[in-house]
Formats: sequence, C-alpha cells, structure tokens
Amino acid sequence: MNFGSDFVFANDDDGGDDCFEVVDEGTLTTTLIEGMRSVEIDSSDLETHGLSSSVPLVSRGAKEKKKKKKYRERVDVNVVSIDLTNLGANCTFGTGDPISCKKCGVFFSHLSKLMGANTGTTEQLKCSPKDSSSGGDFENVAIWKCEFCMHSNPIIREEIPDTSLSTQEYILAPPPIAEESLANSNRQDLGVVIPCVDTSGSMCISSELEEKVKIRGDVTSRLNDLRVGGDELDQWLPNENRNVSYVSRLQCVQAAISSLIDDLKEHKKETRVGLVTFSDKVSIHGDGSGQPFVVSGSSLDDFDSMVEIGKLNKPLSLQSRSIEHTANSITERLFALEEGGPTGLGPAVVAAIAGAAEFNRKTNTSNAKVVLATDGLANIGVGSLETDDRIDSAVKTHQFYSMLGDWASKAGVTVDVFGIEGENCDIENLGTLADRTGGSVNLVNPINLLTDFGHMLASNKVASEVSVKVYIHSGVEFRGEDVGSICQNENHSHLVKEVGTVTEDTAPMSFEFNVKSASELKKLKHGQLQSLPFQVHVSYTTNDGMRCLRVITDQKNVTRARDVAEKTANVKLLAGHVQSRCASYAQEGHYTKSRVSARAWGQMFNRAMSQQQHNREEMEINLQQLNEVDNLIGETVKEERSCGDYMSSDDEMDEEVKMRQKFKRKQKRSKNDALSSKLYNMSSKSSNC
Ligand SMILES: [Zn+2]
Repeated sequence: MNFGSDFVFANDDDGGDDCFEVVDEGTLTTTLIEGMRSVEIDSSDLETHGLSSSVPLVSRGAKEKKKKKKYRERVDVNVVSIDLTNLGANCTFGTGDPISCKKCGVFFSHLSKLMGANTGTTEQLKCSPKDSSSGGDFENVAIWKCEFCMHSNPIIREEIPDTSLSTQEYILAPPPIAEESLANSNRQDLGVVIPCVDTSGSMCISSELEEKVKIRGDVTSRLNDLRVGGDELDQWLPNENRNVSYVSRLQCVQAAISSLIDDLKEHKKETRVGLVTFSDKVSIHGDGSGQPFVVSGSSLDDFDSMVEIGKLNKPLSLQSRSIEHTANSITERLFALEEGGPTGLGPAVVAAIAGAAEFNRKTNTSNAKVVLATDGLANIGVGSLETDDRIDSAVKTHQFYSMLGDWASKAGVTVDVFGIEGENCDIENLGTLADRTGGSVNLVNPINLLTDFGHMLASNKVASEVSVKVYIHSGVEFRGEDVGSICQNENHSHLVKEVGTVTEDTAPMSFEFNVKSASELKKLKHGQLQSLPFQVHVSYTTNDGMRCLRVITDQKNVTRARDVAEKTANVKLLAGHVQSRCASYAQEGHYTKSRVSARAWGQMFNRAMSQQQHNREEMEINLQQLNEVDNLIGETVKEERSCGDYMSSDDEMDEEVKMRQKFKRKQKRSKNDALSSKLYNMSSKSSNC
C-alpha cells in the first residue's frame, strides 16, 4: 500500500477552501501542460461554498453574465495506491484463519491492540464464549477494540493468528485437480495461444516499407521474404523509389504471427497454438495438420453453435502436440491465407475464446491467450459493430462485448486486441475484451505489428479473478467512487473493486478519500484524529489455480496543514492516479469533469513542485499521456459544440440524461480509435510501460 503523501490531510472547516481547487473555464482552451506552466493560483475570488465538485458557479448579476464559469474540484494528497503486479510472488502463507471484526469486517492485524477481558463491559463479556467447549475461562478471552469502527470484539487469545507483518497471505482454496495429467509438462510454459486473424478484403491494402528500416532482429528480411520471389528485380517504374517496397496488412500480420510462433517455439515450448481466421466465414485451422473447419451462413449468427465449434479447435488437449512439433504446419497454413470478403470478427472471437477456455478447463491452467488482429469493422454474424445511430443499439453492442470479456476473464483467457490503423475498427467496443481480461489494446501501423507482438509475449499474467476490498476508518469517506462499489453499513464503509486479470503491466489500483468534517467527526465521537488505519483485502487466483487472500494493513499520521501534506506529496504516484481517474471519467462520458479534474490536480502539482523543488520536466513527462488525451477530448467537445450536441456541466444532469450522454459519447468514440485506445491504455495500464 502506497500513499500520496507522508500525511493524511484533514480540513476542520466544513467545505473549506483549502479542500478545493478553483478551475477557470478559460483554462480549458489551453493544453493541460501549458496551463500548468502559466497559471497563477488564486482562489481569493471564490464566494460560493458547499457545492459538490465540478459544479459551475453561476455568475452573479446581469453585468457579469459574460464572466467565465469557475469550477470547484476537491483535490488533495489523500490517495492510496495498491500495486497488484506482485500478487503470488514470494508468498509465505499464514497458518490459521484471520479474525474479523464482527461489525465492519476488518481483520485483526499488527495495528490491533488487545485489552484484558476484565476491562470489557458486562455486555461484551456476555457475548464472550464462556459456555463454549473451551470452558468458561475468562483469562483466555481478550477484547479487541477495532481500530476502524471502535467495536469491541471478544476473542480467544489462542485463536489469534500470527499477524506480525503488515502484509499477510492466506490460502483460501487449493488448486483444483486437472482433468488431464500434467506429468510430462512444464506447468510454467503450459498454455494455448489462439491467433484470430482478419482475412477480409481490406487486409490487402499495402503500406510502404523502407528497406532500410530495421524493426526487430531479422524482421526486415522476414518482411522482404514475403515479396514474391524475383519480382523486385525488374518491376521498378522509371521514377519509383528503389528503397521502398510494399507489404499488405495481411503480410504484416503473417510476419508478426510467424515471429510469435518462433518465439513460442524457442521460449515456451509447451504452448499449443490453434489458428482461427475470419472473413465472410470463420475457419478453424487448429494446429494446421488437417483441413480447416469452415463455418459460414446462419451459424455465424448463433452464439451457442460458435462456442461448440470453438471447442473443436485442434490443440485443445495435452495429448495434442505442442508448438515444438506444430510450428511448421501452422506457419505453412498462415502464409497460405488469402484476403477477401467482409469481416466475421464476432463469431470468430467467440470460437477463439471458447477454445481457449476449454483448454484452461481441461488442464486447470489460466495461461490461454487470444490474439485478435483486425483492420476493420465487424459486420458479419454475432457482435456486428455495424449498427444504426440509436442509443439502445449502442447499449446492446456494449453489453455483448462486456459479456464476452467477463466470460473470457472468468475462464482465465486473456484477449489482446491489435487494431490496424487506416480503417476504423471500433476499438471502443473491441477494447472492452482486452480491458476486462487484462489484455492489451493496440492501435498500430501495420509495419509496427512485429514490435508490438514482441511486447505482448513479454507481459506475463500475474493472477486472475482479482477482487479488492478496501476498509477505511469510520472518520473517513471514499471520494469520487461509483456509489455501487461502496458498501455502507452505519458509519463505516468499504470499497469493492473487481479487477479481473492482472498482468505485469496492470496499473496499481488507487482510490481517493476525505477525512470527514470536524462536525461529523464530533457526531461520531472521534475528536481530533491523530492517525488513520487502512486495510486492503486482495483475493486472487494464482496461475496454478490456487485461491489466495492478501491482507495489507497500514496507517498514516494526520495533518491539518495543507502545505505540510503537500511538502511530502508523492507526485509520481499521484500523477499515475490522476491519469487513470481522468480516463475513467472520460470513458463514462464525463468529458468536462475529466478536463476540470486534470487542471485541478495540475494546480496542486504546481504547489507541491514549488515546495519540493521538483523537476518540472519529469513532472511533464509523467503527465504527457494525460495531456494528449485531454487535447483529444477538448477537440471532441469542440466538435460537439459545433454540431449542437454539447451538453454542459456533467454533475447537474439527472441519471437518465447522464446515461444517454454516456452512450452517445461512447457511440462517437466507436468511430474514434485514436481516442478510445488511449483511454483504455491510460485507465488500466501502468504508465511506465
Ligand atoms: Zn470494526
């Protein structure tokens, strides 16, 4: 657990100015970074209090009608970030079960203090297990007053597990027994990779390839080998540049996948590979040893039959041959592919995921990967993305790809999406598949496919079915979270986040919180808080199928001085948090909130930097991605304004209008692959990858 500062910031004044940044509407016309360089911080003209964040302050009086809006946004160092990329690594598992607080669910930890039974009230002693089989021995019973909710829990001393470490690990369930024997296999390497390749007509469009370009290893020569032998010698036109050759999109995908196959053969020998391709029909080539199984016509519209067909994919069992033996047949099949026809992407992906899930189930592994490479809009069979402009069509499409992503994630299948630049392929919807399964979203120039495929193999899966629960002190509340993810019980609450699959590239999970106002704290009989405890429960499934629980407990001292908190601000951690926060706001359709929020954080970073003599250049590098995305959103908003589509301040709308706006904007992003892919990467991928 990492904190945004060495201190938690508490403001005694209800809604005091120190809690808020004031963002001038005018700053939305400059870029985030330029704005940070020039804007002076001045909140002196702020007169309205008690508004929720991002609500524009209505200008006062007719004379001031033209005055720009001002937004107030609550921003401070109160951020906690939890790294998930080391789940399951070097774990020493605790013996015994954790003891939980009967009221709030927090576990007894190294911060917990025991009181003797005698100090408890009669009421508490009554609930102590005096007539249990262990005998009515009060000596053995102690009272644990929960540090989070102040509830007094009687506990039996002998049952207290060792909780000396701030991070404790527990096993919840051992791995299930696999259907197929693993005797001869190296579990680490075991897995299936299903390349799912677009062979529709547009894949024949070619790009210039400069011969001097060196992409990776012998890749250039690999690409050059693709050209029809002998052709290049005498086919130059008089003025043609002889240093340039042309490769089609399909050729680039072929080269990238053949390079992937070589890598697997060398480094992950136990992998099974089963090729699937799609155009107006879906072909299951499997390991390339037999005739492809071809599906066309109405079957492509039938989800269940595509699932059954996917399970026929040849390399589905351990008895089938690994890549060591099948590399040649698959590569041969790969290079025999030809382009033509529309894009039956949906049914092909369903078949590919079904096949990968089946392999995981049979072998009790979760290393299956589907690699989707496409250059166009899915327009045949289930999951067609060629829809009308109605909002409910957009909702339906979103639901279909969310369902596919959740299904794959539960089955331990990762989906990597490679969208080829040029045509629009609706990364907005396809990206959901990758996002929910821990896969990557890539919008690539065909020539760069090889490099990007290389990176894909380097990013290993760490854990799946990851779920995070965050417990906070009853004097604290979560800020900016979805109401649906907060479990509220009387005065204490915890946050539940389903993270799904985690890879080495997954961004830390982070959250913001407020210390409740002095008057609220008084009501809760807390007085002035000196330090605050935090506890995180991460439940996850390892690559071996073992279900585990990690419990992290920590505490931080409280300060009431904003500059003290900002002096030790961890600017890099906060910048990472802000990027994923702003991306999530934008994905929900809250464009103004995303941009205002980015600027509010920018103002705080400016102050923190002036206190810490931070390197401004480094800060700007940290915010570069956000700056780019912020610009793209700015462009989109400008476009909306010009066609009368713009809806102003996000927070004032009712739920139904919000939902309509969310899908309307989502629908528009379906035609804006550049923005969509950037938002996906910023919201869930660690920024240093
Ligand atoms: Zn409690």
